[in-house]
Amino acid sequence: MTKIQQNRGKSKLKNHSDFTVNFNTNFSPENSTNFTLKKDLKKAPYLDTLAQLQPQNDNNLVYKRLQNEQTAELSTIKSLEKRAKSKYVTNAYLYKLIDLDSSLKKSYWNTFHCSSVLIQNQKKITSTFCNNRWCITCNRIRTAKLINGYKPEFEQLDNPYFVTLTIPNVNDVDLVNTIDAMLLNFRKLTNYIGKRSRLGKMDKLLAIRKLEVTYNDVNDSYHPHFHIIVNGKENAEYIRKQWLSIYTDARIWAQDIRKADINSMIELFKYTTKIITKSKKQGISIHVHALDIIFIALRKRRTFQTYGIRMVNEDIDELQSQEYEDIEEYDSVIYEYVGHDWYNTETGEELTGYVPSEFEQELKNNIK
Ligand SMILES: [Zn+2]
Repeated sequence: MTKIQQNRGKSKLKNHSDFTVNFNTNFSPENSTNFTLKKDLKKAPYLDTLAQLQPQNDNNLVYKRLQNEQTAELSTIKSLEKRAKSKYVTNAYLYKLIDLDSSLKKSYWNTFHCSSVLIQNQKKITSTFCNNRWCITCNRIRTAKLINGYKPEFEQLDNPYFVTLTIPNVNDVDLVNTIDAMLLNFRKLTNYIGKRSRLGKMDKLLAIRKLEVTYNDVNDSYHPHFHIIVNGKENAEYIRKQWLSIYTDARIWAQDIRKADINSMIELFKYTTKIITKSKKQGISIHVHALDIIFIALRKRRTFQTYGIRMVNEDIDELQSQEYEDIEEYDSVIYEYVGHDWYNTETGEELTGYVPSEFEQELKNNIK
C-alpha cells in the first residue's frame, strides 16, 4: 500500500456543517445535470500530466518524460495530489485578487470553482476548469497541452534558437499601450521578413512567439517581453537587429539569443506571468495588485502567435474527464475541495492525502 493510500481516510472533515455550507455554494443539482449530459465529451489527454515537466539539465530525461506525458501510468492519484496542491497554492492569493474588486472579479470567482467538484464514475473522474491565466491548476494543463501540441513542430526545426526581446520597464498606466505597440511592431517585423523571404533574400520564418509580462517590485514597474523560438541563426539575429532599430532605448545585452533545446519549450510554455516574485531584499512575495494590472492588460489577448508553424489553441477544455488506474472504483461519487483536498461528500473521506508544505502554507502570509 502506498503512503498516499495509507493517508486516505486518515484525515476526515471534523466539522461536517462547514463542509455542507461550502458544498451548497459550489454545487447544485443543475451542475450535476450538466456533468451527466456532458461527461462523454471529447477527453482531454493532457490532464494532470505536467508534474513531470520541471526543467532538467538532462535533455534526454526531459524528452523521455515528455514522451511519457500521454501514457496511462501518469493518470494516478499522484497527479490528483499535484492538482490539489495547485489549487491550494492558487487559493493562497485568489481571495486577495477577489477582494480587489477589479473588473476581473467575476473571472476570479470562476477560479474558485475551478475543479472544486470532482465526479467519479468507476475509475473516471470528471471536473470543470476555469481556463484562467492566474489559475495554476489550469496553467499546468495548458502548459502540458502546448508542449505536447508543439513538440512535433519543434522537432521539425533544424536549427532552432531561443530569442528574448525586451524593452525598458513601464509603469502601470502605460502597460496596455506598450503591449499594443510591441505586438504591432513585431507584426511589422515579421511581415518584412516574409517579404524578404519571398524574394529569396532570407529563409522562411518559422517561429513561435509568446508575450510575457512580469512585475518588478523594487521599482514598481512592469516588464512586457517576448520569448521566441525561431528557426535559423540568421533569422534570430535579424529579429534582434530590427527590434533594436525600432526600440532604440532597448539594451542590446537584454536581447538574448541562444540555441534552443527542449528546455526552451518548457520555458516558452510554462506561464505568462510569474505569480510569485522572488527578490533578495524582500524574499518571496505575491503582489496581487500588480498581478491584477497584468491580467487586465492581457485579458482577451492571445499570448502565442506562430509563423509558418501550425497553431495550437492555448485554451483548455472546460470539462475534462480522465481515468485513474489506482483509485478505488465507485459509482457517482462526488468530491468537494475544502482547504487542501477533495472530500467524499457522503463519507467525508479525503481523496489524495495532499498536505501543504511549510512553504506552501506560508504563501498566504507573503501577499503584498
Ligand atoms: Zn482553473
